[in-house]
Amino acid sequence: MSLGVNASNQDAVNALTVAKFGGTSVADYQAMLRCATIIKNDLANKVVVVSASAGVTNYLVRLSQEDVGEQERSDIITAISQIQFNIRKELPEEAGLDQQLQTLIGELENHATQQANEYKAQTADAILAYGEQFSSLLFTRVLQSLDIAASCFDVRRVMKTNSLYGKAVVDLAELKRNCQELLVPELAKKVIVTQGFIGSDSLGHTTTLGRGGSDYSAALLTEALNGDNLAIWTDVVGIFTTDPRITDQARAIKEISFGEAAEMATFGAKILHPATLIPAMRQNIPVFVGSSKEPEKGGTLIKQQVESNPTYRSIALRKEQTLVTVKSPAMLHASGFLAKVFSILAKHELSVDLITTSEISVALTFDNPTGTTQALLTSTVVSELEQLCEVSVEHGLSLVAVIGNGLHAARGLGSDIFDKINDFNIRMICHGASDNNLCFLVPQTDANTVVEQLHNTLF
Ligand code: ADP
Ligand code: ASP
Ligand code: MG
Repeated sequence: MSLGVNASNQDAVNALTVAKFGGTSVADYQAMLRCATIIKNDLANKVVVVSASAGVTNYLVRLSQEDVGEQERSDIITAISQIQFNIRKELPEEAGLDQQLQTLIGELENHATQQANEYKAQTADAILAYGEQFSSLLFTRVLQSLDIAASCFDVRRVMKTNSLYGKAVVDLAELKRNCQELLVPELAKKVIVTQGFIGSDSLGHTTTLGRGGSDYSAALLTEALNGDNLAIWTDVVGIFTTDPRITDQARAIKEISFGEAAEMATFGAKILHPATLIPAMRQNIPVFVGSSKEPEKGGTLIKQQVESNPTYRSIALRKEQTLVTVKSPAMLHASGFLAKVFSILAKHELSVDLITTSEISVALTFDNPTGTTQALLTSTVVSELEQLCEVSVEHGLSLVAVIGNGLHAARGLGSDIFDKINDFNIRMICHGASDNNLCFLVPQTDANTVVEQLHNTLF
């Protein structure tokens, strides 16, 4: 590993770490400077993937929507420009940089006007992609101001995707080919700064990979470059036993297996985009998670084999869940009912999270992530299901996932988990399909308290 302070200089020179900095890590000039120091202190850091500065993508999401009025549009563009120029003003005077920022802002204004005239998903992605373009340009200059040879690389040259705007799928073989051909030769000369979250389709139109997708971009680039390590620098000192915003009792985990961390990401631990660990697991690439504010505190190492495999590792929480119950007496001793339900869901590209069944009813849960274009359970889907059976839809629920090891074989699991939270209405329990998790739904209004109480009991 070249992430530790003990790595020799030569080891570091030979190693390749992809370092990803999230929104708060590149929020302003001081934050960027801290990240630049992290890059400077380890020669293995040869590729830097940045997110948009904190808050910028949320502004851009609003700008990309159909109903933004002229005044709001102009206010958003002013707010975004201010974030960029506040960073710019701390950097050495350079007319070229001002010009580049102005050009990007001008392009963004044009796209926003175009979107107001005629909404297109393609234009929405073009708009969303500006945050990462600004931050990568500015971060390159911050590195250069510390005398680090660095250049900004447009990731859209290599991150080729299909045209599913808002949740584009990356062509892995093409990414690998492009990285070897276009990016590897650059690495010998300079630190490469590039954008997370964005890509481009076969026609050259900009695409995005889904909210929080920079972690995934960084993992894909590490894999395509045959990198040795991936470092995710964020605003907390690693992966905690639960979201530290929910309880101050949460504590950082030193080491965690790929499988456990992937479950956490899937079940809502925002610290990692759900797909981040897929490329890392494929190539057995260790992933470090730490705080760019306090790099000296270390962080969490995610790897294949870890020394301890506790029954209870962590608790994840995902809000905004919808529970759909479909009920049909015709299901009794009948076959093919579930296939019909799932074919309707598949037609509308809806993916089911949890499922439980009884003789005549099936309960299913769906995620409703905000700020994405993910397919949602619309009234059309519900009416199609109603042709088959009785349907009830409930919103305002949260999914709690207890993550650990050997949960299917653990004794006393039921009382460990449910005794302390028996004052709450638990809507659905899923256990048995995975030995790494036990999940259940609770009303959203109780979710934080349930996690807090459960955390106090299990850890
Ligand atoms: P970035 O902008 O760096 O990508 P995110 O906001 O996406 O950062 O992710 C970091 C946040 O994830 C933390 O501030 C924390 O509130 C949240 N989080 C959720 N679950 C966990 C967990 N188990 N451990 C650590 N942080 C978590
Ligand atoms: N900037 C994007 C977002 O806010 C991607 C990321 O931060 O990972 O969703
Ligand atoms: Mg994130």
